[in-house]
Amino acid sequence: MITARSLEVFAQLGLVEPIVDCGVHIWELVVAADETLFDAAVAGQPGATYPFNIALSEAELEHVLGNDLAQHGAVVHGGTSLHQLTQGSGGVEATLVGGSGPTTVRARWLVGLDGFLGATRRAAGIDRRRLHSDREWAVFDATVQPWTSPVEATPAYLDGPGAILTPLPNRRWRVYTRAASDTDAVA
Ligand SMILES: Cc1cc2nc3c(=O)[nH]c(=O)nc-3n(C[C@H](O)[C@H](O)[C@H](O)COP(=O)(O)OP(=O)(O)OC[C@H]3O[C@@H](n4cnc5c(N)ncnc54)[C@H](O)[C@@H]3O)c2cc1C
Repeated sequence: MITARSLEVFAQLGLVEPIVDCGVHIWELVVAADETLFDAAVAGQPGATYPFNIALSEAELEHVLGNDLAQHGAVVHGGTSLHQLTQGSGGVEATLVGGSGPTTVRARWLVGLDGFLGATRRAAGIDRRRLHSDREWAVFDATVQPWTSPVEATPAYLDGPGAILTPLPNRRWRVYTRAASDTDAVA
């Protein structure tokens, strides 16, 4: 889900049109909990530039961002991971491991975008205090038939293991659920 605020940032980068054109406009969040339905507008503030969120697969968003990077001359090396990182007074030394083995790169700066559990955070000694349980999310795309509710809403079922459904283009749904066990997550 791409929030209204993220759309404003993409607009500043000149990237908002393909994202708004490809994605599903989401106006409502519907939460079912304890046999009660709660309904909320997602971004309906008066005067908001984008009074909706956009639901779009990460793969399509990456495609838009990748095209833009390429137009700016950036080259993306997939399948390369940061293995080790040391910081000196004049910069950083990073060991990268890719298809052709390890290489060492020296640079003044390293911008780590490898996530909450990433090697950059670990090497920099940044605390990884977890606020939530370590239980895995299971994520998959599905078609749900018959589906009679509107597709411009995100339904979240919080009872039991819970499931959040986000609409995708072509009446597909991205389903997020908390697995009760590793076997559940694989199934
Ligand atoms: C189930 C679920 C649903 C979510 N839904 C939404 C949503 O709808 N909208 C939303 O805005 N946010 C959502 N979030 C939150 C969102 O996914 C995170 O906030 C966001 O992905 C964080 O981005 P990031 O770039 O910091 O890290 P990540 O997205 O975790 O990206 C890190 C990347 O670094 C790579 N990497 C890891 N280690 C290394 C290494 N050593 N070397 C090289 N690369 C490495 C990983 O493979 C990964 O590609 C959701 C999260 C979860 C768990």
